[in-house]
Amino acid sequence: MRALRLNAWKSEPELVEVAEPTPGPDQVVVRIGAAGACHSDLHLMHDFEAGTVPWGPPFTLGHENAGWVHALGDGVTGLTVGQPVAVYGPWGCGACARCQVGVDTYCENPAGAPVPSGGGGLGLDGGMAEYLLVPASRHVVPLPEGLDPVHAAPLTDAGLTPYHAVRRSWPKLPPGSTALVIGVGGLGHVGVQVLKATTAARVIAVDTRAEALDLARACGADLALPAGEDAAEQVRAATPHGRGADVVLDFVGANTTLKLGAASVRTVGDLTIVGIGGGTLPVSFFSVPYEVSIQTTYWGSRPELVEVLDLGGRGLLKPKITTFGLDEAVHAYHLLAEGRLEGRAVIVP
Ligand code: NAD
Ligand code: ZN
Ligand code: ZN
Repeated sequence: MRALRLNAWKSEPELVEVAEPTPGPDQVVVRIGAAGACHSDLHLMHDFEAGTVPWGPPFTLGHENAGWVHALGDGVTGLTVGQPVAVYGPWGCGACARCQVGVDTYCENPAGAPVPSGGGGLGLDGGMAEYLLVPASRHVVPLPEGLDPVHAAPLTDAGLTPYHAVRRSWPKLPPGSTALVIGVGGLGHVGVQVLKATTAARVIAVDTRAEALDLARACGADLALPAGEDAAEQVRAATPHGRGADVVLDFVGANTTLKLGAASVRTVGDLTIVGIGGGTLPVSFFSVPYEVSIQTTYWGSRPELVEVLDLGGRGLLKPKITTFGLDEAVHAYHLLAEGRLEGRAVIVP
């Protein structure tokens, strides 16, 4: 079968022929319906090096996957061949306290996982291929009625990651509150939809690109502002008494966006760093408003994926997608790197 492989750090992926996987006990082979192209893959190609993460190339890219059950290993129950499914991407040990409640992202026994702190497309072979070997059946989540693999794939990361980040801040997003989304790309545009679908907060979006601001408005943002020197001032001006945003979600993570977040957040608010743009934010008693919580978030949990898919099945989350064939995947990544995509690029093998 064909697969898009990353063969070395600091290199471009290549489309090559590899053997089709066969499932061992409790494993599942999924025929890929779609695999999303995430900006993190660009970081993998261009920024990562030996030691950045505890795994490395070669492996097949694609950590945002959905398709149909193709083959079941011994002992797998509850799934049938041909059934449409999404794949939960972070693959932990399955046995530690975190994995037992579906939080494989923060597995505490990485030595017992199929790859330490990774998953398919992140150290192990991912879904930018015709078939994907899923190493444990618990990662295979049936799709609800109304959701097909092409629209489900981006929900497993571009949907799940903002959902997790928003969900942990729900207590700070009552009616009357304001949420600020910085960066309205693959993750950010679904982030706006998650905020509209699950909270009554007013949503402000900031991006450098006019098309991304149009997409933010189409996703329900109440206000969309171009990034720039006075963006924080404009965010504050749009909130009662200039108090700022109760929750800031930074889907870029660059120096400028972290600074914007710190300047825009309300006292007792949340500043959540999702983007891995390599920026830093000096934190000291007077550098951020009183009692602001600053955190990073990584992906989401398996129970949260079930909730995200439910929202997708009911039409409450609708990622904007552009589809590409496997032979166009490298081109899709170039468009992503150049900021010429709206929403998510999805590879359909
Ligand atoms: P994307 O390229 O689709 O979107 C990024 C968006 O940010 C674009 O619309 C771009 O115009 C905008 N942007 C860039 N610089 C900006 C600036 N200075 N101010 C305002 N907007 C700006 O990327 P994506 O796939 O949505 O990923 C976003 C980030 O999140 C990446 O760094 C990615 O690696 C990371 N990521 C993190 C997790 C996690 O679990 N923490 C998961 C997936 C992706
Ligand atoms: Zn990703
Ligand atoms: Zn674990």
